[in-house]
Amino acid sequence: MRKLFFLCLLSSLSLSALAEGFLTRLLNKPVPGGVAVIGLPEQPQAPRARYRDNPLLIVREDGTRWIAIAGIPLNTSPGTEHIVLADGTRVPFSVKPREYESQHITLKNQQQVTPDAARLKRIQRELSEQTSAYQTFSPRQPSNLLFDRPVDGRLSSAFGLRRFFNGEERNPHSGLDFAASAGTPIQTPAAGRVILVGDYFFNGKTVFVDHGQGLISMVCHLSAVDVQVGDELERGAKLGKVGATGRATGPHLHWNVSLNNVRVDPAIFIGSFTP
Ligand code: ZN
Repeated sequence: MRKLFFLCLLSSLSLSALAEGFLTRLLNKPVPGGVAVIGLPEQPQAPRARYRDNPLLIVREDGTRWIAIAGIPLNTSPGTEHIVLADGTRVPFSVKPREYESQHITLKNQQQVTPDAARLKRIQRELSEQTSAYQTFSPRQPSNLLFDRPVDGRLSSAFGLRRFFNGEERNPHSGLDFAASAGTPIQTPAAGRVILVGDYFFNGKTVFVDHGQGLISMVCHLSAVDVQVGDELERGAKLGKVGATGRATGPHLHWNVSLNNVRVDPAIFIGSFTP
């Protein structure tokens, strides 16, 4: 009898392991600044769902079930959150805690810490341009959710670091930095369409790529940009070169990944996430 029970337990374990497919194992990091993978009810057409009013990325996992992949804002408190299906059904998921470290940065140019009124106006304009790019939601399926690294180089600054510039706390680090020398080529981590190119006060030369369904990459501080708005890029296409334009202490690549208009830890998408 005991042996039978043990066998049943084993088979139910392997069933649940089957239900959790490759994408869930790769992407389900439900912490503030992370990603929640949520199973959806079975139906012939892809379901639609929203989280905090933003439409969600929904894909078929292993040809067996629909999953929603939701970005969780960095300022979310651990606990229960909900996504909402098209028919109003609320599907809960739980957010676990994650600690983020602090980083102190010294800038010689105090304008980059506390900009004056004229620069603030420019910064506001640039911010709203980038905010609307992050709200893009196109119907295409991303070519790959296990992203290619945008550049060769070690990871230098992690996502979510609380940052102090000349002792003053500013926004936490919204992306992931790679150490790379000026001129190193940058590739798009997945296929996509170039939706914004700019030269900004904080980010310097910047490119936004829409991978589909609200999944967007942004790379910045480039020394040169090789693409234009409207370009359709194949996976691995060249975006430009590493530089130190904007608020940067030296050449490196800063990469943001946005999902449902939420900046999440890019390390998740290259299999380098550490809890
Ligand atoms: Zn950065």
